[in-house]
Amino acid sequence: MSGVLPLPAEGLWADAGLGGARAAASALHDAVAADRLSHAWLLVGPDGVGQRELAVALAAHANCAVDDPAGRPCGGCDACVRTRREVHPALVTFEPDGAAHRVEDVRGSWTEAAMRTTPEARRKVLRVVAADRMNVAAQNAFLKLLEEPPASVVWLLEAEDPGRLLETILSRCRRADLPPWRADDVRTWLRATLGGDAAAGPDDAALIEAAVSAARGSGEWLRGLRRDLAGAGPREAREVLAAVRTLRQAHLDLVDVLAREGPGAVVPTAKRLVAGAKARREALAQRHAEELAALEEAYGVEGNRGWPPGVKARIEKRFERIARAEEQRTLRLALDDLAGHLRDLLAVAAGAGPDALLSPDTVDALRRDAGRLHRADVLAALEGVATCREALERNGAAELQLERLLLGLATSLYVRSAA
Ligand SMILES: [Zn+2]
Repeated sequence: MSGVLPLPAEGLWADAGLGGARAAASALHDAVAADRLSHAWLLVGPDGVGQRELAVALAAHANCAVDDPAGRPCGGCDACVRTRREVHPALVTFEPDGAAHRVEDVRGSWTEAAMRTTPEARRKVLRVVAADRMNVAAQNAFLKLLEEPPASVVWLLEAEDPGRLLETILSRCRRADLPPWRADDVRTWLRATLGGDAAAGPDDAALIEAAVSAARGSGEWLRGLRRDLAGAGPREAREVLAAVRTLRQAHLDLVDVLAREGPGAVVPTAKRLVAGAKARREALAQRHAEELAALEEAYGVEGNRGWPPGVKARIEKRFERIARAEEQRTLRLALDDLAGHLRDLLAVAAGAGPDALLSPDTVDALRRDAGRLHRADVLAALEGVATCREALERNGAAELQLERLLLGLATSLYVRSAA
């Protein structure tokens, strides 16, 4: 049946089928449209390449209030709107709290979500982010849930490395692959987001290429940009892309700043990066507060009164987790940009042409910085980036680690320019 029905040209399924996710979106769309939905799906691919959008489209389709099945998901009914905002019981997302999913969670909140009767939802989509980060105990507990599936439940298990899942789990899932986006996928998506060729602005091509270079095929980066561009018109989208370009330029200029200002620039630069990440977190928290207020207004509830038990706390907890993750993501982005720049410096120093560079659009800055650093210093800085990234993952002191990294760079630049 897969691939028989064309994906809708607009709406939630079109959004879910962007980039590398088209085949997976077709498979899920055909299955739900024919009412032959498997109760467990394994979505194989790197994080952030469309898993969330697939889950939203599927849950909205299965629960849309529109009578005509061909019109689902309409995108505008109560079920569709709340599913898109991820505040409908038809879509529940489980993310690892720390490095791995815990067996207590599988036995607790997962089991409860699967077994609970939810009159508002014909079908419940239960999404497990990084399902391959369940340990064996958690997998065995999960297997029990898979073996006795309530009729209304659809599990979406997301895994980058399905080899880490038990064969007994894999054999119960239908598999769909989500490959990373290619540069052309990002271009096509952004061109459409900016209103298509007919409405193209004079700076659009440069904005898009800067975003393509910044993306470097990273699903995490893509997920952040998709969130920032959700619901944005062409004008707002241009502002978002201009901010992306400015931020990336600031990261690529780090070596130049340290070379011009010396070791004295280290502490202020690290502070600026950390403050920038905190500002992103706060901006997102502000947006979440507005969303919550809009929801309360739409449903006529006020403060803590009128919410079904536990629902507001669950939404707030999820918003808090997303905002915290955004702070970390912003710092990782700075490190990734810096690491990409250092990697390109090595390539330029070795005589590589633009085709061999991660960011061919920055060749002037690369030639400038390649003359300022020894190969050994660049390698040491690359190692420093890796250490700093690990510290961030462990929730270590980000500012101190950044200072150490930048100090190493500044010292080698300083010694070089004094020589
Ligand atoms: Zn609807």
